[in-house]
Amino acid sequence: MRRSKQNYRCSFCGKDKSEALILIAGVEGHICEVCVEQAVDIIEEELYGNKKQHENAQQAAPPQMSDFNLPDNMTPVAIKKHLDLYVIGQDEAKKTLSVAVYNHYKRLRQAIADDVEIEKSNVLFVGETGTGKTLMAKTIAKFLNVPFAIVDATVFTEAGYVGEDVESILSRLLQVCDFNVAAAERGIVYIDEIDKIARKSDNPSITRDVSGEGVQQGMLKMLEGTEVSVPPQGGRKHPEQKLVKVNTQNILFICGGAFDGIEKHIARRMNTHVIGFKSDEAISQMAERENLIRYVNHQDLKRFGLIPELVGRLPVATFLEPLDFDTLRLILTEPRNALLKQYTKLFALEGIKLSFTPEAINYIAKQALEFKLGARGLRSICEAVMKDAMFELPSERETREFKVTETYAIEKIERSKFGMLKAA
Ligand code: ADP
Repeated sequence: MRRSKQNYRCSFCGKDKSEALILIAGVEGHICEVCVEQAVDIIEEELYGNKKQHENAQQAAPPQMSDFNLPDNMTPVAIKKHLDLYVIGQDEAKKTLSVAVYNHYKRLRQAIADDVEIEKSNVLFVGETGTGKTLMAKTIAKFLNVPFAIVDATVFTEAGYVGEDVESILSRLLQVCDFNVAAAERGIVYIDEIDKIARKSDNPSITRDVSGEGVQQGMLKMLEGTEVSVPPQGGRKHPEQKLVKVNTQNILFICGGAFDGIEKHIARRMNTHVIGFKSDEAISQMAERENLIRYVNHQDLKRFGLIPELVGRLPVATFLEPLDFDTLRLILTEPRNALLKQYTKLFALEGIKLSFTPEAINYIAKQALEFKLGARGLRSICEAVMKDAMFELPSERETREFKVTETYAIEKIERSKFGMLKAA
């Protein structure tokens, strides 16, 4: 027989069943949902000292206008000059990013009561892997001294499927600024591999595309600027969890992707516009021969599989050039924290003066080009060259100077895994 629940009360706060959403029955008493939540907080605090993040999130002061004041001398030219210190080449992308960032922070300073509202200028980078997309976003965030998070678009899926909720993009940002919501709300998020969530087929939604189109749809509101309920630890949201509200109105989103194969869409578009039709083979050849990425536009991105609404929310699209020999060589030596400068410093700490001959530097750059590893490969090639010296020299007290010559670099590379790859 079912007993009537009408007279039941929460044994902790005394709330009646009619006032509580849920009343959980125990052996001798009941507990309501509010008391359960409070009990969880007490347990977290007592056992894990874990309450700080929620508290921080709630106590954060609203952002002040003064928080967004760029220094007087900060112009797009000054921003680009700073990027030049760290990023080699990529002039077009650096210019575009400098203007976008400048306008973004100018927009934040704008008086709210104005009738002309400047829209957000989220940025999209198109360029091969290892060409400096992340580096550029990271450098700009450091320069502006705002919180910065990198997230990978491939881990997200539509709600209800295995994977992470799109909202956890903001969890990473909250985590880097120790759950200070006001700081997070003027930060920069770099969303990598945005091309991997392209629509799987041209026909929208024949089958559900939960990690592609579904995720793109999920991102729309966030990119545009809205209040998002964020699970503080990321992952999937669940009903009992405390969510932190983050307004994305002033967060700058920079998306990046290699968009492998987009050249064909560009070639096809340009071909039909300018010279008349060509065969598919001729288009492929044209795509390979010319650096077509520099002509990328929103139409190509839609053809590639980004939904028009997402493309619309990334109004500033720019490209990064593939790295050639000269650029790779400069990357080794020029940026403020260039690889070779780092090795020199490491050796200096041991009291050893390290130097590289120009031929050795050329050789290293050539290897990175040959193995098609981009700038990312420079590091592993340098490691292969320097490993033995780094192992032996600290215990050899008499060596005070060490010069890396081309012959030395060749010998080390030939004997490393790169040498084996060459032989294969
Ligand atoms: P991705 O385009 O895949 O985001 P990253 O920005 O992560 O590439 O670059 C990988 C590494 O290569 C970084 O450590 C960075 O130092 C170096 N690098 C790439 N491009 C450049 C560049 N144009 N100038 C200086 N360093 C670069």
